[in-house]
Order: sequence, then structure tokens, then C-alpha cells
Amino acid sequence: MHYSRLVEIYEKLDATTKRLVQTDILSKFLKEVDAEDLGTTILLLEGRIFPRWDEREVGIAAKTMLKAISVASGEPISKINSEWKKTGDLGTVSYNLIKKKKQSTLGSHDLTVKKVLKNLMELAAIGGIGSVDKKISLVAELLTSAKPDEAKYLVRTILNDMRIGVGEGTIRDAIIWAFFGDKLKVKYFKEEHKVLIEDRERYNEYADAVQEAYNIANDFAPVAETAKKHGLRGLEEMEMQIGVPLKVMLALKVDGIDEGFERCGKPAEFEFKYDGMRMQIHKNDNDIRIFTRRLENITAQFPEVVESVEKYVKESKVVLDSEAVGYNKKTGKYLPFQSISQRIKRKYGIEKMSEEMPVEVNVFDIINFRGKSIIGRPFEERKDILRKIIKNTPKKIILAKSITTSDKNEVEKFYREAISSGNEGLMIKKLDAPYKPGARVGFMVKLKPTKENLDLVIVKAEWGEGKRSKWLSSYTLACIDNKGNFLEVGKASTGLKEKREEGLSFAEMTDLIKPLIAREEGKEVTIKPKIVIEVGYEEIQKSPTYSSGYALRFPRVIGLREDRGPEDISTLKMMESFYNGQKKK
Ligand code: AMP
Repeated sequence: MHYSRLVEIYEKLDATTKRLVQTDILSKFLKEVDAEDLGTTILLLEGRIFPRWDEREVGIAAKTMLKAISVASGEPISKINSEWKKTGDLGTVSYNLIKKKKQSTLGSHDLTVKKVLKNLMELAAIGGIGSVDKKISLVAELLTSAKPDEAKYLVRTILNDMRIGVGEGTIRDAIIWAFFGDKLKVKYFKEEHKVLIEDRERYNEYADAVQEAYNIANDFAPVAETAKKHGLRGLEEMEMQIGVPLKVMLALKVDGIDEGFERCGKPAEFEFKYDGMRMQIHKNDNDIRIFTRRLENITAQFPEVVESVEKYVKESKVVLDSEAVGYNKKTGKYLPFQSISQRIKRKYGIEKMSEEMPVEVNVFDIINFRGKSIIGRPFEERKDILRKIIKNTPKKIILAKSITTSDKNEVEKFYREAISSGNEGLMIKKLDAPYKPGARVGFMVKLKPTKENLDLVIVKAEWGEGKRSKWLSSYTLACIDNKGNFLEVGKASTGLKEKREEGLSFAEMTDLIKPLIAREEGKEVTIKPKIVIEVGYEEIQKSPTYSSGYALRFPRVIGLREDRGPEDISTLKMMESFYNGQKKK
């Protein structure tokens, strides 16, 4: 398939924010794509080069892209830079400049989706000395053979900035409409902007199958291919693979022990809720891989975990779910999440950090045993398997501390013990429940003291004054609503340090924010919502000032949440429920 066909679809999707319209465009398009191009097309539609769980990345910064556009268009970098400042989008800049050039030179080669993906993958493989120059020439070559509108989307894809706003839900629905729409009699009426589904129940069955396959594969490409080739059956039979992360099961919140029992039944299992980071650990003989809750591969950053798993997990093929908690090697004291958070993105000094601030892995679930998925087996059984295969070794790897009980008094005692030993609270688990990847179905629920910090994304920042003038020192924070919109909740500038040595500093935040700047107006910059921070506060108030309708009183930055992406920050619903919770007290 020609890349230009895909570009037409990007343009169509770009022209609307209506979900049904997007689903209609996408589903018709997916039907038309050949089986052999389907996987590639889905990845590119999502603006990806690799599936989300794959740690490879193209690694091209905007500054490098400026040079590539300059080579391809023959325009000086200074000009490209000033155009970029005006539009805030290098995609549009390259469109304009390549268009100008193409008017004077002869046509371009036909790019195919295969060729585009292949070249972009090659980019990711370039490393070592001279790699920046090699990347520039490869990108320039691609841009030279591109038509102007192709160049726009190539640049955006490479910079990981697609902007077309097609969410996961839309792609999922488009796959259903495309491959099962006729069978399920899905009818979309353009004029009325309405969709009719004759048999809702059957539709939901297919939707669940697509969603579940996605939760396991973490990539819509194989899901679409399977749906096209093998139908519903194929989707249901899709198996997890050791080494490919699957979405983690999520927890609901309960307000008390009684509600915990109501949700999970009696008896239920109660476990310490550790204040660390989620780790999904895949062991396939000597190939051990560790993923965060966002399914980023962090194996290289945690060598001590690899070692613990090699030594103390007495099976060669398993996938474990766990929470890793850092501790100070010298004093043995456990550290809050914020301390180990800095290890997640580390590229240098990894050994030293793993020496000084190692983690203890608290294992609480197992989802693959001897190479077979066991997500359908009851929690109780999974836990039994775990007990047999983990050699409990404190400060290395242990089973999460737990009790199984129906007795509220016993739970209260255990809850106090959890809190007094520095944990966040308790997790309550339903004994006969399966493991549901990616779902918040209430098979595990959390119980913690009422006031909780929020995880918020930075959407704007402001240059400081006086001695802070070289830093972006005030940050506008946002939560997310159920449609994926970011809604502002206030501004924070406390909690950061003036010197880098003292912890998370204004300078470090400025370095992180600068490459994400999309627009500048006076002192204020609008940025791409990427950086998630944990924020403490005194109270949540109703407020007309911010788009969420709430404002935080005395917000303070606790630290970066490098294990979270903008899609898993605190929701508007949480703000509401925290606000209501406060009123009760
Ligand atoms: P929250 O992040 O507040 O939604 O709470 C759920 C998180 O608690 C999970 O994603 C885990 O990272 C963490 N956690 C800590 N201890 C446990 C445990 N024993 N079982 C399950 N999750 C746990």
C-alpha cells in the first residue's frame, strides 16, 4: 500500500474529533488494507514504529529533525527554527518547505507503508559514533522522496507527536466494525451521526474478545491480523507470550473493611500494599525481562532484580506480578517510591544505584507458569503456586505479606501493622477470581487512609522571576476525564529544590520541560502533556478558575512519577470522590 493512502486517512481523521466519525473512517480503511500490510498500517496509524511494549525507539530529538529538514528542503536551519517557533509543529514546517521545494524540482518516488516502517526501524538500530549524522541523512532521504503531506506525517511519526487523537477505544471499535461489522449488523448513519447495533449482547461479546486480546498482546497489530484471519475464535485463543508484557490488573478503591468484604467475599486475602513500583517480571530460562505498569522495559535499570529472580525463583518459565520497594543499603531502611523513581529512566551509573539503593521485590501474583497462561485460574490457586516457587529471601525477593480471613478484627490488626511499618495500606483480593489484564473489575481492591496524593500531568509552565528567571518554575497541573481530556486543577511551584544536589530541582524540571514546549506566550509555555508528577495538597476546593472545576489548596510537588504516563494519572472522578470524602470528615 502506498504511504500516500495512509496520509489521506490521517488527514481525514485529523479533520474530526468525533469518535464515531473516526471509527467509521478507520473501519472502512482497515477493510481495504491487505492482510500483509495490516500490522504495519495499524502501527503507523497509532503513530508508532514499535509496539508500545518494545523498548526500541527512534531517538531523534527536535534539534536533529531541524537539521534533517534543512538537508531535505535546502533551507537554512535558522529559517526552519523560526517557522517552528511560529507553528509549534515541525510537521507543518516540513510540509511548507518541502512543498516550496517540490514546485521547483521533479516528482518524488512512491513511498509504501512497508518502506516507511522499514526505514524508521533502521533509524532505531543506528547507534555508536556518528549515529546522529547517519540518522540525519536517513531522515533527509525519506523526506526527499516524500510528498509534502507525507513529509508532515513522517516528521510527526518520527518525533512521536502524531496529534490525530485516535484513542485506543476507537481503534478497538474500528477493528470490530471492520471485521465483524457485517456479521453483527453494525450500521452507521452519517447524516444522523448515529450507530445502530441490532444485537447488543453479541456485539459486547466481540468487543470483549478484541479488548482481551489487546490486553494480552499489547499491540493492536496482531489483534487486527487475528481478527481478519481467524475471527472470534482466533482472538479467544490468543495466548500471552513470555517476554511480551500484558496489561496489569488494576485495583478499585474501597472505603472500609466491610466494603472490602462486600466486593471480594469471605474469606478474602489481605496483603500489605507496598509503596513502591509495580514490576511485571518475565522469566524465560536465562532471558529475564522487567516491565513497569506502563509496560516499559526496565530490565537494564534493575540488575539486582534479574539476579534475585535467577537465584530465588525456582522455575524456569514464569511471569510474576509484584511491587518493588527500594531500601537504603547502608541503613537497611525502606525508602518511599520517589527515591527509586529516579532509577527508571537511568542510562548511566546503574550499577552504583543498584548497589546503594537496591529494591526488594514483593511478589503477589503469577500469571504464567511453565510457559502457559494461568490468568483464568482462581487467585487462590495462583497464590499456592507462588508459595512453592519463591524462595523467600528478605531484601531480595519475598512473597507479599498476607493473611486470609473473614474476621474484621484480624483485618484491623493487620491494617494497623501495615501502616505502622510504612506501607500505604492493604490490598484485598477475591480468592476465586481470575487475573483480568488491564481491567479494574474489583477482584483486587485497595484500602488506604483517606487523603491521597494525586498524580497529575504538567500542561503549562511559567518562567520564574529574579533569581529563578532561568528556570521554568511554576507548573500548571491537570487531571484526566473519562474521554481522555486533560483538565486543569491548579499551579504548583513548591516542593522543588534550587540546587540539583538537593533533589528534584527547578533546573532538572526545566530540562525535562523544554523539549516538550509547543507554544510560548509571554512568560507562559504550553507543553505536550507527558510529565507526570506526584502532588500533595491540603485540600481540594471547588473552583471556577480551572477547567476541572476544582482547585488544589497548597499544592506541592512530591516528585516525578516516571512509571506513569499521562493516560494513567488521577481522574476527574477521583478528584470528585476525594472532594466528597473531605466533606464527610
Ligand atoms: P494504586 O496505584 O493506588 O491504584 O494502587 C494499586 C497499586 O498498588 C498496584 O498497581 C501496585 O503497584 C501496588 N501494590 C502494592 N502492593 C500490592 C499488592 N500486595 N498487591 C497488588 N498491588 C500492590
